[in-house]
Amino acid sequence: MACIWRNATTASGYDGVTRPPWQGSLAKSRAAEGEKLRSTTRIRNGILAAVVLFSMAGACVAHGTGKERAPGISLRIERSFAAPRDKVFGTWTDPQAVAQWFLPPENAHWTEPPTFEAHSGGRFRLRVVASDEHYDLHGTFREVRAPDKLVFNWLWDKDSPLAGSPGDTGVTVEFFAHGGRTDIVLTQRGFRNEESRKEYERGWYRCFREMDKLLNFVPPETLTRWKDFIRVSSPVVALEHATMIDGTGAPAKQDHTIVFSDGRITALGPSGSIEVPANAKRLDLTGYTALPGLVDMHGHLFYVSNFFNTNDLLAHVMPFSFPRLYLASGVTTIRTAGTFEPYADLDIKKAVDAGTLIGPKMHVTGPYLTGEGYPLVQLYALTGAEDARRTVEYWAREGSSSFKLYTDLPRAVAKAAIEEAHRWGLPITGHLGSIGFREAAELGIDNVEHGLWVDTEFAPDKQPDLAPAEYDATAVDLDINGEAIQSMIKTLVDHHVAVTSTIAVWEQFALHPAASEHVLDALSEDGRKISADSRLMELKKMTDGTPHEREKHERFVRMLQKEAEFERAFVRAGGLLLGGSDAVIDVFIAGFGDQREVEMLAEAGFTPEQAIQIASLNGAQFLKESKRIGSLAAGKQADIMIVKGDPSKSIRDIENVEIVFKDGVGFDSKKLIDSVKGQVGIH
Ligand SMILES: [Zn+2]
Repeated sequence: MACIWRNATTASGYDGVTRPPWQGSLAKSRAAEGEKLRSTTRIRNGILAAVVLFSMAGACVAHGTGKERAPGISLRIERSFAAPRDKVFGTWTDPQAVAQWFLPPENAHWTEPPTFEAHSGGRFRLRVVASDEHYDLHGTFREVRAPDKLVFNWLWDKDSPLAGSPGDTGVTVEFFAHGGRTDIVLTQRGFRNEESRKEYERGWYRCFREMDKLLNFVPPETLTRWKDFIRVSSPVVALEHATMIDGTGAPAKQDHTIVFSDGRITALGPSGSIEVPANAKRLDLTGYTALPGLVDMHGHLFYVSNFFNTNDLLAHVMPFSFPRLYLASGVTTIRTAGTFEPYADLDIKKAVDAGTLIGPKMHVTGPYLTGEGYPLVQLYALTGAEDARRTVEYWAREGSSSFKLYTDLPRAVAKAAIEEAHRWGLPITGHLGSIGFREAAELGIDNVEHGLWVDTEFAPDKQPDLAPAEYDATAVDLDINGEAIQSMIKTLVDHHVAVTSTIAVWEQFALHPAASEHVLDALSEDGRKISADSRLMELKKMTDGTPHEREKHERFVRMLQKEAEFERAFVRAGGLLLGGSDAVIDVFIAGFGDQREVEMLAEAGFTPEQAIQIASLNGAQFLKESKRIGSLAAGKQADIMIVKGDPSKSIRDIENVEIVFKDGVGFDSKKLIDSVKGQVGIH
């Protein structure tokens, strides 16, 4: 099923197309008609059935069963959004927003503006016309406002082309206001079978995820509770005379002005050419650089300890220190890349969205999907393909918005996980071991983590479905321009598989650089001691270790160069390279790790502007959010980091963060960092 839509707009398994709830049924009915699945859904100008949903729904409630049809199987979904009721309701009636559920603008290629008309108590019609898709939905609609709730419901016309079981299902959505939050209860009745219900359910989850992205709401809670950490909070802000690195890879521009209003950039350009509104709060940024907030595609919300003392790694959730460090360091969006505590990560995201925690916007990946093998006591080992499907389905329902395969997984189990993630419209990445990059690409994975460093397919002792004895740096002696690596790169590019660079992690592995003062300040006392000891131990191994230890270190040092070469070659070949920190251990921690990743990308041979693009816009592209975040452009969210100096001239200036704007609210970097002193490893 998942692959039916795979080629609709891109060849990637995760095409980001937010199919409407009825997508599966549409695909099926069209397949039954023997039509090509990619063909345009034509408008059917059938006779419009005039069934008033509300009365029908009422009848169902009153009599238990409707007269014309059995109530059959129903669906109920409850969701909470961190925005007031009218704002949430607005996304259900705004044509652009509704159309985004169907086709996110990222790859929608709308050929005419979407239209949505609804007359309460009467007809509704939604038209979305794109170059390769065409939806024309119609039915009957009703909206009832009561003091305690707002009820919105509709019934598709029997001839509405998208209805999976035309006319059979009625939808009721209730909106309950709770201050700045809105709870939604969606009920849909009258499914013909369980499969149809599931298809709708998956579709609704996709809609909710898109709605989440559209809300861009800064809760008043943020502005009041965190006022001591906020340096700039004004409806209209003008950042004047800044050097600007816009995140597209374009060279830095001098003396630019950026204006944003209500969290969204309204104008930017050379300072003389931009009119600054009279009511703007003006910041003279002479000597500073404005960059897009970073998009960390390999973030984590845990810190690992006991790494070198025992073989049991323990990951502790850092709900307090890590989100603050990310934001303080200029990271405004993260995709977590696996977790041992999926509920904790989801709750942290919710708390940040609601303004009760400070942190970046989050895309939360589910629990690591792996089998037996890796020595982590908190890892759940999947028992097989069915378990993989069950686990993905469960966490997709709970709110995970992506998945990650881990090191020890046979292909059949990986395939099941990939298929199930795609059924939910979710991307899936992998830190692989038992599966090579080429195999993973062919199985339909969307992204691979860490780069060539962990691609085990070239290891001499690699057996199908099993990780070789060494997970790391097994391709160190291969020529990047040779046939083996080039064909692997081509396979990734052909399958639109993105690669996440975590080259700053590999620097840690290979070179064990001394930690900077600000990192040591953030660590707990124990953390400082453990990491200092372990660093000394590693450095000692480099010179006085066993032959195997010395060989390994020497190999890692060479691999660091090889990794840089690979990442450049991948980009040259047209691949989408993302930036990730994976900063979870020792002196390599959230936020500071992100800055080091940008520096290492520049050291790897990218221009500073390209390094920033990899760490910002490319991630936004993968997340299908580049129309809203990832670079500085009019119309995008004001996710902007301000650093002293000019990272295009000296990349290390990326560490001099002063203010980080998230949706237009400017947080004080130093105050955030000071607030977590000594906390990493504890909170
Ligand atoms: Zn990781």
